Amino acid sequence: MIRQLYRVLGPEGSRPLNRLLVLQCAAAVLQGVAFALLVPVLRALLGPAPDDVWPWLTAFAGCALAHAVLQGAAVSGGFTVGSQLSRVLHQRMADQALRLPLGWFDTGRTAEFSRLAGQNVIQVMSTPAHLLRPFISSLLTPATLVAATFFFDVRTALVLLVCAPVLFAVQAASSAVMRRLDLGRDAAIGESADRVLEYARNQPVLRAFGRTAEGYGALDDALVAEARADRRLIARGLPGLVSFSFATRLVFALLLALGVSWQLDGSLTVPTLLALLVLLVRLIDGVSSAAEAGAGMRIARNTLERLGAVLDEPPFPQPAEPRTPRDASVEFDKVGFRYDGGADPVAGAAARPVLNDVTFRLPERSMTALVGPSGAGKTTIAHLLARFRDTTEGTVRIGGVDVREIGADDLADHVSLVFQDVYLFDGTIEENVRIAAPHADSGQLAEAAALSGLDRVVEELPEGWAMKVGEGGARLSGGQRQRVSIARALLKDAPILVLDEATAALDQENEALFAQAVRALAARRTLLVIAHRLSTVVGADQILVLEDGEITERGTHDDLVAAAGTYASFWERRAQAHGWRLESA
Ligand code: ADP
Ligand code: MG
Repeated sequence: MIRQLYRVLGPEGSRPLNRLLVLQCAAAVLQGVAFALLVPVLRALLGPAPDDVWPWLTAFAGCALAHAVLQGAAVSGGFTVGSQLSRVLHQRMADQALRLPLGWFDTGRTAEFSRLAGQNVIQVMSTPAHLLRPFISSLLTPATLVAATFFFDVRTALVLLVCAPVLFAVQAASSAVMRRLDLGRDAAIGESADRVLEYARNQPVLRAFGRTAEGYGALDDALVAEARADRRLIARGLPGLVSFSFATRLVFALLLALGVSWQLDGSLTVPTLLALLVLLVRLIDGVSSAAEAGAGMRIARNTLERLGAVLDEPPFPQPAEPRTPRDASVEFDKVGFRYDGGADPVAGAAARPVLNDVTFRLPERSMTALVGPSGAGKTTIAHLLARFRDTTEGTVRIGGVDVREIGADDLADHVSLVFQDVYLFDGTIEENVRIAAPHADSGQLAEAAALSGLDRVVEELPEGWAMKVGEGGARLSGGQRQRVSIARALLKDAPILVLDEATAALDQENEALFAQAVRALAARRTLLVIAHRLSTVVGADQILVLEDGEITERGTHDDLVAAAGTYASFWERRAQAHGWRLESA
């Protein structure tokens, strides 16, 4: 546990922890000494001919006082280290979130991450102040007492020397069992917390499909599993707890019997016996509180281990010597991609490739449209371009440089994205747009708003830019959310702009306006537009048709219509539905 604390705190945080541990140990030893000094005092009080008791009493008072002072210092030191621990952990978890491969979050670990970085960090933070001190004192105080007993009665001390480790061993064994059970229970608690969150988030679905009355099965299951884990903890942990408690009583009884027999044969005086019993009670008290403090330590240790595991997760690889793209062109060179990426070879059957031998070029300041059925791999291409993931085969280049050799900040400066899924923060519209460029001036903000059509949204809202969008943008309509997301991407003013079905939630009129704006943008930027609407696609310099992970057709609108392939027949059907003639679209 202490080792984990050192590991998590790192070198810069280890000095305050060293100081704290020294303080806590000194306080615990002094406490033991103070108790031991009570023996001669008691012996003097109870004995037939009191010795000179004053020096002992003075020493006792001195020790007790010094212990109180050290203890005070240890408590405040504990809070200092605790707050430092939480600062370091929050910072390191936040940094790690940015460095982890995006794929790490795919497998339902977002909720786990948020639990760990949030409430678990707070829980660990109280460890140095509330757990370390009782834990250390419950170990060191009994040890000091045993040592002190040698001065008063060697036989008792020897018996204690044998018994105390036995007690600690019983305690350690029971605690090892409990730790495993705790882990199972933690997992069950985490699972049901995730389900509760899902239950709350997906209320519209649950209501629409009438699932509320019977309950949401997965939540029920998780709650049942949690209750089962709780019962298992009690059932399996109880024998350990009972044997520990039994062992302490046994040691007590044994020493009592020995003491009485030594007293009867005259080798131990009654005052010494009584005084030793006081020490013994204190010792057993210490061992028992070690068990209690141990429970808290166990939970904290589990948490620190889980935090450590996330912090040790290998980061998304970054180039050792970053290079800068020469221009804003983009090149996909024989790119292949599988979502498992070789990261999880357990299942045996490797995932089907999502992209296969994809080669194309986006010349600087040109517009390319990427079309194709849903599931073809269009979004995957957008994500590979921004290096959210690495290709399984082939190379993605920006300005002639492999994206794996471009520094993360540099890459981010080059590419701006409108995501197919809109991600909004629970803040105002302005905050959500400004995430792209916190220092943008109001002119730039107004320009991005005008291009995306967000200006019309803002005008209609009573609070305007200051409107709170709610969790995930819940208070906005789909089209409004999408315009916030487009304005954000435009505000960034990166030379490469990727629009992934950016206008899917817009109505015809807004879509047409935006399509016009997009064509104008191509004069200044390299554009990759993934779209399903003809009005957006027609004017592109180049159209790529992606089917099942492969590029099957490419050319301008006129080329592709003339080729009479997938593209032509697709638009033919669309155009007929709208009563258009394809050529005039
Ligand atoms: P499109 O954008 O053309 O609709 P996508 O690129 O989103 O297609 O998805 C292509 C394929 O990759 C789909 O079969 C989808 O199931 C799969 N896929 C997408 N995202 C993931 C992911 N995070 N993990 C595993 N498979 C994924
Ligand atoms: Mg997509």
